[in-house]
Amino acid sequence: MSSSPLRVAVIGSGPAGFYAAGHLLAAELPVHVDLIERLPTPWGLVRLGVAPDHPKIKTVSKAFEKIAGKEGFRFLGNVEVGRDVSHAELAERYDAIVYTVGAQTDRRLGIPGEDLPGSLPATALVAWYNGHPDFADLAPDLSGERVVVIGAGNVAIDVARMLVLDEAELRATDTSDTAIEAITAAGLKELVLLARRGPAQAAFTTPEVVELQELAGADAIVDPAELELDAVSEASLADDTNAERNLVALRAIAALPLAGKPRRLQLRFCVSPVEILGDGKVEAIVIERNRLEADEQGRISAVPTGERETIPCSLVLRSVGYRGIAIAGVAFDERAGTIRNAGGRITDEAGAVVPGAYCAGWIKRGPSGVIGTNKKCAAETVELLLEDAAAGTLPVPAATGDLAGLLAERGVQVISYAGWQKIDAAELAAGEVQGRPRVKLTRWADLLAAASA
Ligand code: NAP
Repeated sequence: MSSSPLRVAVIGSGPAGFYAAGHLLAAELPVHVDLIERLPTPWGLVRLGVAPDHPKIKTVSKAFEKIAGKEGFRFLGNVEVGRDVSHAELAERYDAIVYTVGAQTDRRLGIPGEDLPGSLPATALVAWYNGHPDFADLAPDLSGERVVVIGAGNVAIDVARMLVLDEAELRATDTSDTAIEAITAAGLKELVLLARRGPAQAAFTTPEVVELQELAGADAIVDPAELELDAVSEASLADDTNAERNLVALRAIAALPLAGKPRRLQLRFCVSPVEILGDGKVEAIVIERNRLEADEQGRISAVPTGERETIPCSLVLRSVGYRGIAIAGVAFDERAGTIRNAGGRITDEAGAVVPGAYCAGWIKRGPSGVIGTNKKCAAETVELLLEDAAAGTLPVPAATGDLAGLLAERGVQVISYAGWQKIDAAELAAGEVQGRPRVKLTRWADLLAAASA
């Protein structure tokens, strides 16, 4: 094998991208990694998805900083694959490409009224309160008294909790200033989270339920009658410790007397949205009660009973899962919302491996698991890539010359890692003045200016 390094482009600098870079740079052979990112800032959902009041989870960025400090690592921010450079142009310049672009859009409910103003994907709200520059002008209407969140995953519970935090709780975080002001001034009195199945099938995890009891400005509410389990759910607890712990935490909430806090956060089970109503904007949601039914494989699903109810509300946040977006030139599985792949090797429509093309993280396996899940996922992909390099099956790049040269010719303002560090330093300094972890720059122009200051 030649002594010139293996040149790999990793696309997307969230956890999967950084872990892939880290695994590549830990390989025995010399490797050069270009980590290409659409935004001027790295870390993906660690910066722009993790709830701001969960700062401990964000400390994983320390591990990413270590990877960025390794020899052979280069960050190219503000570069969008598909806009500034194509998949084919990357394939001409690198021995291998690894897509780690995550799941950038939301799954749809498919019900009437879903697109009324005031019906938003939770992913948009998450991006807005986290200061994502594409969502700085989202301006969700928080003037009404009741907001409904659909879904029972950790994202649903994150957005529900974030919207009922009080000013002091918000000011201790790196929530965007716009969101702090909007949430603090909101007319919101009641937030209702709707789970289509029962408490024993909820996807959220127990620490997220437990912290609902400790909110300064909101009483958490669960109707004890909705926690009574049918026989199948009761039996399922034996194999599901998360569900069992969730039940304990939910029962503790149900037993709590109301403390009369300014806002209420109610969790409801076995109800599905049927239609979102409103004249020009969201005014109410029609929901239907479900019963639970187990199929032959033991999967418990929600079956509508016909019993309906209308809940007046001014904002509906749909939190029923993320979904990947197709990349031009790369085969995509529309049903799964992922790149077609076999263990991380990208395949074509017919299932044949595309030499030199790989993927990891949510765009490989779908939007599941915690941040650490991506470490193992990226390791599996990188192992295959290194196996292919050793076997000599990677294609030989056709073009010579550095990608940076092509981008410069096209007038792309590439943000280097040093440029990101300037953004980081500016945000941390602004945070220090206010006693907050950081104050984020939320506008493209401000981010680009800070990076080149
Ligand atoms: P998720 O965990 O897959 O939850 C999606 C929820 O949407 C489920 O409750 C699902 O119910 C529900 N749903 C799907 N289709 C529906 C429909 N048509 N009507 C009503 N409900 C519907 O997804 P997520 O909350 O977006 O989270 C994504 C991943 O990130 C998860 O792995 C999550 O744990 C992780 N995450 C972790 C944290 C944390 O660790 N603190 C924070 C945020 C996200 P069914 O179960 O009935 O399908």
